[in-house]
Parts: sequence; C-alpha cells; structure tokens
Amino acid sequence: MNLRLILLITLLLLSATGVFAQTGDITRQETLRGSITPEREWWDVLHYHLQVEFLPETRRLRGSNTITFKTVKAGSRMQIDLQPPLAITKVTHGESQLKFEREGNVYWVTFEKEIPKGVEDKVEVFYEGVPTVAKNPPWVGGITWGRDDLGENFIVTTAQGIGASIWWPNKDHGADEPDRGMQIDVTVSERLVAVSNGRLKKVDHDVSAKTKTFHWEVVNPINNYGVNVNIGNYVNVSDKYNGKGGVLDINYWVLPHQKESALRQFKEVPRMLEAFEYWFGKYPFYEDGYKLVTVSYPGMEHQSSVTYGNWFRNGYLQRDPCACGVGMKFDFIIVHESAHEWFGNNISMKDAADMWIHEGFANYAENLFVEYHFGKKDAEDYVIGTRRSIRNDRPIIGVYGTNREGSGDMYPKGGNMLHTIRHVINDDAKWLSILHGLNTEFWHQTVTTQQIENFISTKAGIDLSKVFDQYLRTTQIPLLKYEIDGKTLSFHYERVVKGFAMPLRVNVNGKEIAITPTETKQTLDFPDEIKSFEVNRNFYVAVAKN
Ligand SMILES: [Zn+2]
Repeated sequence: MNLRLILLITLLLLSATGVFAQTGDITRQETLRGSITPEREWWDVLHYHLQVEFLPETRRLRGSNTITFKTVKAGSRMQIDLQPPLAITKVTHGESQLKFEREGNVYWVTFEKEIPKGVEDKVEVFYEGVPTVAKNPPWVGGITWGRDDLGENFIVTTAQGIGASIWWPNKDHGADEPDRGMQIDVTVSERLVAVSNGRLKKVDHDVSAKTKTFHWEVVNPINNYGVNVNIGNYVNVSDKYNGKGGVLDINYWVLPHQKESALRQFKEVPRMLEAFEYWFGKYPFYEDGYKLVTVSYPGMEHQSSVTYGNWFRNGYLQRDPCACGVGMKFDFIIVHESAHEWFGNNISMKDAADMWIHEGFANYAENLFVEYHFGKKDAEDYVIGTRRSIRNDRPIIGVYGTNREGSGDMYPKGGNMLHTIRHVINDDAKWLSILHGLNTEFWHQTVTTQQIENFISTKAGIDLSKVFDQYLRTTQIPLLKYEIDGKTLSFHYERVVKGFAMPLRVNVNGKEIAITPTETKQTLDFPDEIKSFEVNRNFYVAVAKN
C-alpha cells in the first residue's frame, strides 16, 4: 500500500491500539510472531487447505485449516498462530486429537510422539469466534463487515502487517510459504459470492442450509498476508491476455453497478501487464490467473487476486503521488499493487524488516510503467517527485525477528535508491537484465535483503554494498559539498557511511562528466572558467556549495 498521511495515521493508531507495538522494548509476543522459533523450525509448510464460513449476522467465523507439512528435523511441539478473540477449538492428527495450550497469539500444539525427520504429515486445526474488526483497512487489518451501496453484505479481509493469523490459523511468518499452494473453501449465504485467490474450481449449493461454498485453488506458493476473501454481490467479467507465459486468464469481480466504470478503467490492466512483463519478465502466476476484485478500501497486493478500491479514476484516490502531473496519467492502485505480483508475491521477504523488497520495488515499478508508456522524462519527473514524501525519520530496514517494519520511507526512498543505482550502473540493457534476473533467480522464493543486494552488485559488476547501507540502514542522505575557484572544482561527500564512494554524473559548463567523490576532498581542473555546475537529478543526493 502507499500514502504517507494515512501511513502516519496508521502508525499512530497502531501505537494507540497496541495492535502490535512498533516502538519500545521487544515483547515476547513480537519475538514469537517475528522469529523462526524452535517450534516453527522443524516443519516446512507444503499446503494449506482453509475451509471457513462467514456468518455476518453474528459477525463470526467458523472453520478449519488442514496444514500439510514436511519435517526438516524431528519434532513434537508445533507453534500455530491465531490471534484472539478467535480461538482454536480442536487439533486433529489422523485419528487422534492433540493437546494444545494458548500463549497470547500463539498456540503450542503437542504431538503424541515425536515425528521423525523427512516425513510428510498433516494436522487439521479447527477454529471459530468473533474475529478482530479492521480498524483502518488495509493499514490496520482484520475483517470488515461492510455493506455495499445497495445495502447488501460486502465483507473483506485484510492482513498485511497485522498478519494472516488475524483471521485464520497458520504459521504466520514470511519465511515459510506453502510450496504446493493453498485451497480456500468459503461458505456464505446463498445470496452472496465469495472471491478468493487463484482459480474458482466449483461452487456447492446447500439448498437446505441456504449456503454456497466457493472452492478456490492456488497452485503456487503464496504469502500468508496475500490470502484474502471478499464477499459481496459480485458479478464476473472475464478476459484473456496474450503474454510472455502464453494466455493469461483475467477475471474482474465487481459489484453490478460498478461494471461500466470498471470495464473502462480496467483497460489499464493489459497496459500494466505489457509494461511489467517487459521490465520484470513473465507474470509469475499464469497457472493461478490474474484478478482484480473491487473492495471497500483503496487496494492490496493479494496474490493473483489484487484488490481494488481506487474509485475507477487515475492517480491515487484522485491525488498525484509526485505532485508533478504524471501521477494522474495512470491508475496508481492497478499499477502499484500489480507490481507486487513480481516484487512481494513472486519474490517475497523472509522477514518483515526487509519489507522494502516489496514496497521499494513496487514504488520504483510505478516509474518504470510510466517510462514504458510515456517516456523517460515523465518517468524521471515521477520518481524524483515522490522524494517529497521522504521523511528520513528511521532507517528503511526494520528490526529482524520481531515483525517490526522499517520506516514508511521504504516506498519513495526505496524507489529513489533503485533509480539512483540504475544511474550508477548507467547501462539500461544491464539494468533490464538485472530486473529480469531477480525474478528468475528468486522465482517463487522468499529472500533476505542481503540476497537482493548481493545479486544486484554481482550482476552490475559494482560493489554497491555501501550504497545499500547508506540508503537502507541510515537516515542520512549523502551530501555532496563542492567549491568552485576559477577553473578548479573541488568536492567531497559528507554524512556518508565509511567507505561510501558512489559515482555521480555532474554537468560542468554544459558538459556531463563522471566523478567519484569520497569523504576526502578531490580537485579537478578545467580548461575554462567554471560558469555552471549541476548534479544529474537522477542521483538522490543533497548538494551544497561550500
Ligand atoms: Zn505496496
């Protein structure tokens, strides 16, 4: 997601409600949520089969999740996450029921006897209760028991940050995605339609119970927070896109009165697919299709089920993120949230501290979309324009092992760091191959920032470690100090990490030259008196005359 102001409100809300403390001492609950505990480490999730009934009259959920896993070492105690007020009622393992106890958001499940290394097994976790209502979806998530304009139920789930365990039991950590995907069976009143991730395999109608069950299937690994259910009076419009992976099935799920506006605005989808398949390679989930599903909040990158609430207008809630005009040339939500299919869903962070891998690249992708369709000048105006919302309040990288994200600067500063790196490399063909390479090297994987940083440095043939350190791990923007004395230019960096020597391109008397400043002052002599000096605007540095 995006939007500085709402993010700020969100952070205030988070600390006010104590949903998860982002400051202060790290609590045991944060460690249990954010780290690979011994009770998580010994088993690898292969598949989730979630079956859940939504009961709007009582605002309750009732269901179960069958977790198929493979043991990577022997173990007998399992951590399952489910946040109150929802509660696990039963855990079965074959014919037997397992003992369990609760510790806040975590359940400790004990097997009858140790399960050896290297076996495939499964447990079914039954749960029910009144789930947390989303306080400010999608920034503070949970369930939204809403109504559409005509008074019909319009129910949505959101879980980014707060975690999927806000509405279903699972291993709530980014490092472990179900390798074989997920089945999501949603039971609702027969009047309603339930839309989830992947493909709709079948709909069962229980006439006596007056319910329908929608069976959705995802065959690829999926982010926990990318799993979502949207329930309403949806109608379906399907389309096809001939892309790099063959024919991609596209489905739009919209409310009946939205159909006309949606079909007009969603023409952005093939434009988005064309641009991102050019920059990043083929859409990562052809098997699961691509969907846009209208919801009652701005949007979210739910895998193969991108949610949309941007009023069928260009910009972001009718605002321009760069304040330069370019942001009104495209639908921010379709472009930004869909970019996450490559960065966020295809390549996913293991630890929430590395969230910039999702948001920095998605922010950066906005300007690549612009470049593809509107040219380089607009793209540069856009990404540089988004610098206005950088606050440099905290580092972009958060606190590992705690589910604490870093600064919201991960969006515009992350995007501008990548834009700067592109200009350091100064070879568009190489940069394109790096963007493609990331998506093939880390195809359907969870990664650390170190893997991303190393990959880019290696492929660029430039050690960028200090550049990443500077922008991801400090709040300082490099300051280039310069002095002109007749025909002599002198310059050096201040406010930089030790060893920082990022090359720049500067314009002297109308001619662009490359310099590599360091903390040590350098001087350059020119044949003529220096009348003008300017740093290429694509490099995100501050500049001051001595
Ligand atoms: Zn995003």
